[in-house]
Amino acid sequence: MTTDAATDRPIGGYPRIVKRRDAFRVLPNMADYDDARRGFDWTAARALLDGLPGGGLNIAHEAVDRHAAGLHAGREALRWIGRRGERRSFTWADLRAATNRVANALRGIGLQDGDRVFVLAGRIPELYLTVLGALKAKCVVSPLFSAFGPEPIATRMELGAARALVTTGALYARKVAALRDRLPGLEHVILVGEDGAAAEVPGTQDWSALMAAASEDFAIPPTSPEDMALLHFTSGTTGRPKGAVHVHEAVVMHAMTGRYALDLHPDDVFWCTSDPGWVTGTSYGIIAPLVNGVTNLVAEAEFDAATWYDILEKERVSVWYTAPTAIRMMMKLGAAPLEGRDLSALRFMASVGEPLNPEAVVWSQKAFGMPFHDNWWQTETGGIMIANFAAMDVKPGSMGRPLPGIEAAIVERRDGGLSVIDAPMTSGELALRAGWPSMMRGYLHEEARYAKCFVDGWYLTGDLAMRDEEGYFWFVGRADDVIKTSGHLIGPFEVESALMEHPAVAEAGVIGKPDPTAGEIVKAFVALKPGFEAGEALRRELLGHARKRLGAAVAPKEIDFRQNLPKTRSGKIMRRLLKARELGLPEGDLSTLESDER
Ligand code: AMP
Repeated sequence: MTTDAATDRPIGGYPRIVKRRDAFRVLPNMADYDDARRGFDWTAARALLDGLPGGGLNIAHEAVDRHAAGLHAGREALRWIGRRGERRSFTWADLRAATNRVANALRGIGLQDGDRVFVLAGRIPELYLTVLGALKAKCVVSPLFSAFGPEPIATRMELGAARALVTTGALYARKVAALRDRLPGLEHVILVGEDGAAAEVPGTQDWSALMAAASEDFAIPPTSPEDMALLHFTSGTTGRPKGAVHVHEAVVMHAMTGRYALDLHPDDVFWCTSDPGWVTGTSYGIIAPLVNGVTNLVAEAEFDAATWYDILEKERVSVWYTAPTAIRMMMKLGAAPLEGRDLSALRFMASVGEPLNPEAVVWSQKAFGMPFHDNWWQTETGGIMIANFAAMDVKPGSMGRPLPGIEAAIVERRDGGLSVIDAPMTSGELALRAGWPSMMRGYLHEEARYAKCFVDGWYLTGDLAMRDEEGYFWFVGRADDVIKTSGHLIGPFEVESALMEHPAVAEAGVIGKPDPTAGEIVKAFVALKPGFEAGEALRRELLGHARKRLGAAVAPKEIDFRQNLPKTRSGKIMRRLLKARELGLPEGDLSTLESDER
């Protein structure tokens, strides 16, 4: 990658995409980046929200009740399109009534402030109603990805002390029923019946029956901005998954980033393709559009280019937020499937979750007549931190510039402290000045791990990046060993642990192997116990074992056998060395190959 210091030569070899003010169909919410930064203060951002009657702040009030009580009451808040083309639509008034029922039902079964409600479901309307209703009831919501296998589900529910789980009959039978013994605190399992049928399963309650018995009137109890609202599990290099604690005040960031980074305007139809099992699917697939009074489109189906283009066209989507893996899959098919389509409603496209190849930005400009605007954030930050804004030139390959109110820097850790790297285009760790509203308030029960993320008032992200002379940030890689596959963050330790449970496995080391479509795939290296023989049959057995335990989203796609795995003197498996060898890279200085644990 070349730098554009002094010359106007584009970094990465791609010309910048210049935004002409007279070309905007709708005036961007942030007309001038520098002005917006200069004039920004958090008090004014908080003032955009309503607040609870009598004081306090509750995400669901901002997303639902305040609009239901105002001019938006009869407007479409949530538009759901099922896998088979079924449709359901909720106005804000409908959403208020339905989420009030959920809140009453949860309170009715005895849930109290701070109780953890887990949700495990595909993108079905009941998931959205549960999240918002549980927030109204002051429960803490923890979404689980429905493609997780039983092991990641059980681990997260144990760590998070799940008191209730809302899921479907099928997912319960396949993934949860057998491990209920491990979860003695899980008092309530509420099943959404398939196709409206009652789910009559021992030890569970039926969603429809609970809702039918619940009242449509509910007053949100006093909620402090610092009350815990969401628990999002994420993965580190080692140890169990980390529960990032988020509070109701995060809604300030959801509102602000929806306006600025996604440029949401009241007449928009907004489509975020991310699953609420991951943080983007909750913050931007549920909260941000509703808080901003925008119709939120939810599509249940998984990626398929023709279906997605149909949705964009027929639903007249105006703002689209998706991810690089899907974009790369569309790119592979070329622009032909877009020919003859009327995408005239589409106004703004954004991408998140993994590095967006500059080629994809250039391709989108040709294919859609506008670029994908990359933005960056992570589970811990609770909201978008760095973005390519509607009114700002896009440099293909860059994640953009920090949101107003967010101070980002490239730093180097030194003797327990930090030094900020000012030299442009120099790689270091991406750090954010602590204190924005949606910053995680802790890793659940892991004070030391949380404290390690902060040095000298900076939050250290674990990502390596560079900053150019104009203040645009460029992603370089991870400082640790976590894996991003199809946009999903996977902890190698969780995969290694599952493999180690197999009687044949003595040691396991797991890496992300670069992949042109998925970004990375999960690859495992395994050393066998004496008496077991490496071969195709055992490989298949191990792949199947991991898949059954971890689910398709987490399990390794490839397994290689090794006599033994490279280790540090203290006995830790050197994943980076495994990776270097896999990729045929020079092994270099091994100390730089050791992982930095988070
Ligand atoms: P998660 O916490 O699962 O949302 O994953 C966050 C991580 O995804 C970040 O720390 C980055 O490593 C990666 N990531 C997110 N957005 C981007 C982006 N725009 N470019 C490159 N990597 C990204």
